[in-house]
Amino acid sequence: MKFGGISVKDGEGILHSANLVKKFTNGKEIVVVVSAMSGVTDALINAAKKCSSEPSAGYIKLFIAEMMKRHYEAVERAVLNEDIKNRVIHALEKLFDELEKVLLGISYLGELTKRSEDYIISFGERLLAPIFSASLLSIGVDSVALTGCDAGILTDKNYGKAKPLPGVYELIRTRIEPLLKIKKTVPVVTGFIGCADDGSITTLGRGGSDYTATILASALNADEVWLWKEVDGIMTCDPKFVPNAKFIPQISYQEAMELSHFGAKILHPLALIPVMRRNIPVRIKNVFNPDVEGTVICADMKESKDVVKALSLIQKAGIVNVSGAGFDFAEIMAEVFKILSEEKVNVIMVAQSSSELSLSIVVDLKDLEKAYQALRRIENGVIKVSKMENVSVIGAVGAGMAGTPGVAGRIFSALGKNKINVVMISQSCSEYNVSFVVKSEDGIDAVRIVHDEFGLNN
Ligand code: ASP
Ligand code: MG
Repeated sequence: MKFGGISVKDGEGILHSANLVKKFTNGKEIVVVVSAMSGVTDALINAAKKCSSEPSAGYIKLFIAEMMKRHYEAVERAVLNEDIKNRVIHALEKLFDELEKVLLGISYLGELTKRSEDYIISFGERLLAPIFSASLLSIGVDSVALTGCDAGILTDKNYGKAKPLPGVYELIRTRIEPLLKIKKTVPVVTGFIGCADDGSITTLGRGGSDYTATILASALNADEVWLWKEVDGIMTCDPKFVPNAKFIPQISYQEAMELSHFGAKILHPLALIPVMRRNIPVRIKNVFNPDVEGTVICADMKESKDVVKALSLIQKAGIVNVSGAGFDFAEIMAEVFKILSEEKVNVIMVAQSSSELSLSIVVDLKDLEKAYQALRRIENGVIKVSKMENVSVIGAVGAGMAGTPGVAGRIFSALGKNKINVVMISQSCSEYNVSFVVKSEDGIDAVRIVHDEFGLNN
């Protein structure tokens, strides 16, 4: 099971989560994965940047003091036994000491590499795992805290977005299985972090603790993965955009992956890959409503293929357009995507017309300027690069779209009837989704219209 976000925002949340572990343990072997306390990862990233740009020993003292206050208060509330409390405080003291030294090091160097940034942001999870584990111990559940590295999550050296190495599953099994089967204890593993073969700490990308949970589940061939969130499960659309959205009890891996790619904040976009190969279901559970079954993400169910099952909306996106005529299309495409990958731009969607080259690439709005400036490098007399701000991307997802004629037709005629202009459209051969772009001011209306058209309302 994985806990993160609001669930572990303070000591009360940690104790509540530890009690959930206790409640659902009865005789089962459970591995717990935790993320950082909410807001801590962002605070660490900020501190790392600040130390490299405006070094100040006073700032570091203050930052460490704030972090200590937050975590020690959590211990006070979450750990119900004095001895265990003292032991965990001792462990945290060492971590704070280490963090302070690293931040000082960064300020002396005046330089922040990807590698040292990963090292610094790993502290969020490394601080929480021992507290969570101590909380379990204090309510009578035997437990041990591990880092991702202890658990055997060996990754490549792509700091900030590392991926587990191919042979890692066997290693994880040899590290974790004895704890479950022989020691009969509950390992609490830091989500989000792994390590490279030289021992340096790596991170799996923001929100990566979901990914940790599914990597571990796959290695251990778990029965299920439970991701504890603050909602009852996946909805037909984010109720913030469509108030009468309804709960989805079951969804396929493919559909959930499409949704998370198109901005639905369900889970880390890569998180389903490790479990798909073993058919391990992933359940989204509500930490505030634990007796509700939640949404199960599992293999495709032949009988229930909804045409449009859910919609997602990315409100803030931008488009970069590369256009021109009279050159090799594939060559330009290769060049464009090479640049975007070097610049680490998150590409949301692509569409192209080939009579005359026009390649439109939708990116996160925060990446737009970077993508635009980088692509201008290939501008010459014939190739032109332009950009468009303030667009929204809508993804309509459903396994039943494949082989059902007229789905796209229904989407676009509903939008047309409501006078919404579509800027760009894309559908891949998988036919699991149709995605399209509208002006930002039309985003919410567009998603409501399509939601209505396919009868998804509650
Ligand atoms: N703490 C990390 C983050 O904020 C990982 C996670 O939350 O899953 O991105
Ligand atoms: Mg987090």
